[in-house]
Amino acid sequence: MSIKEKFLKYVKIDTMSDENSSTFPSSKSQLEFGKMLVKELHEIGVKNAYQDEFGYVYAKIDGDKKLKKIGLIAHMDTSSSLQGGNFEPRIVENYNGQEIKLSAEYSLDTNHFPSLKNQIGHDLIVTDGYHLLGGDDKAGIAIIMEIAQYYQNNTHIKHAPIRICFTPDEEIGLGASHFDLKKMDADIAYTLDGGEYNEINYENFNAASCKINIKGVGVHPGSAKSIMVNALTLAMEFNNLLPENEVPEKTEKYEGFYHLTDLHGDVENAFMSYILRDHDENKLEQKKLKMYEIAEILKAKYKTAKIEVTIKDSYKNMYTYFKNDMSVVNLISNAYKANDILPIYVPIRGGTDGASITFLGLPCPNIGVGDYSCHGRYEYVSLNEMNKVYEVIKTLLETI
Ligand SMILES: [Zn+2]
Repeated sequence: MSIKEKFLKYVKIDTMSDENSSTFPSSKSQLEFGKMLVKELHEIGVKNAYQDEFGYVYAKIDGDKKLKKIGLIAHMDTSSSLQGGNFEPRIVENYNGQEIKLSAEYSLDTNHFPSLKNQIGHDLIVTDGYHLLGGDDKAGIAIIMEIAQYYQNNTHIKHAPIRICFTPDEEIGLGASHFDLKKMDADIAYTLDGGEYNEINYENFNAASCKINIKGVGVHPGSAKSIMVNALTLAMEFNNLLPENEVPEKTEKYEGFYHLTDLHGDVENAFMSYILRDHDENKLEQKKLKMYEIAEILKAKYKTAKIEVTIKDSYKNMYTYFKNDMSVVNLISNAYKANDILPIYVPIRGGTDGASITFLGLPCPNIGVGDYSCHGRYEYVSLNEMNKVYEVIKTLLETI
């Protein structure tokens, strides 16, 4: 199978993760998919491939023992934003820059999706307008499987030892939760996940979640004067005391935010949920302090109300590691340059499994795979770009 055939096979399989699930992995389909990948690895001759009790797929391909062992990681699950799998993706050969009709209702064009302007002459794979493509991250898996097949078929080529891991539940933030450094057995690693083919990510958000429970005072509205404290009104006042421009819809690049994700309740009780994000660790700390400060201001103002703020750290910026040691980033940058590709360095406005893996002790930046507008019906991949990433990885493995 070529990269294209592999990709088309994988995206037809639904592997949606489910954040409300109580099992790990969160969906059975991921276990089935992992099982299939192990079978394929065995079929192409990778003997040392298996799925562990958590559903992670690990594989090893021997190489020159003097060289660093390089880990390649991609995630098996797809976003729950739209149903994927069980549909016919469409191939647009030699894209001409015109609008691409996905279905009667939906289409892709360069006005709404400017990234398409760079795809003229490329072969693209698009959705039917009603399904998630799932190139995030089946594109990463297809590239890694192609790499495995290539070195199994070309044993005479000298290369670094290869370590592979396919993780479950990345989209629900749990991809690294049962990741096992010993099973991985790599010196350095890269996640291949989403984004432009020449994109390298070694910075991501520091993240925390904040839950606020408000207890008001409920009395009959007819005799409420000077007694009632409406918990919902208080919740709105709380939100109004936050910097109004520091929200996702008004920030970009390195700008952090407070994001209200839930607000519900009644006169007596209100509940709010926020996610707090910032690339700068200190600025995230300030955001956390701000939440406590506002609670104090409101408690002083409404003495009979109760406000409880609970903050939990979610993940950290992997730049904490890379600012002191860029060698793993430089290796992949050089592999891009050797293929006449100028890499771009993009800070991720979100998290990545690679960040958690880096903090476990295995430095793991992310590289893009040629997958665009993911998590929805407008997702598409460029086969030409996937092939370029495949070449870059080969260069990395052979020149390290
Ligand atoms: Zn992804």
